[in-house]
Amino acid sequence: MTVVAPYPLPQPDAQTRPYWDGCAAGRLMYQRCADCGRVQLIPRALCEHCQSAQLGWLPASRKGTVLSFTTVHRAPLPVFKAMAPYVIALLEMEEGFRLMANATPQAARAISIGAKVRVGFMQIEGMSLPCVEAVE
Ligand SMILES: [Zn+2]
Repeated sequence: MTVVAPYPLPQPDAQTRPYWDGCAAGRLMYQRCADCGRVQLIPRALCEHCQSAQLGWLPASRKGTVLSFTTVHRAPLPVFKAMAPYVIALLEMEEGFRLMANATPQAARAISIGAKVRVGFMQIEGMSLPCVEAVE
């Protein structure tokens, strides 16, 4: 995947730092509520299901299934023009949370709804971002 600077990178804050630190270490972290047991990602201060603040972080298996995907032909920002066309997929992860991420070119060629995939990480300007990888 061709990436041209400046790429609009996420800005980790106190709430999202464990997630981004996990990505940097090759781990996909998600939150689990100690009160209701449900899981969530995007990181939040409170459980999106019961509003409890008793959230813990766990590493995910990184295994998921494609719920949906789209091919982006018209880049929404100039920085993405060199990447287009590219595929963005919505995954249902084994643990029950959902994740949207760019597919690697190899994964994009074979992607289909219901396909088993794995979350990997791509390095952009020193930051590790989750991406969708094909499973052999
Ligand atoms: Zn909860």
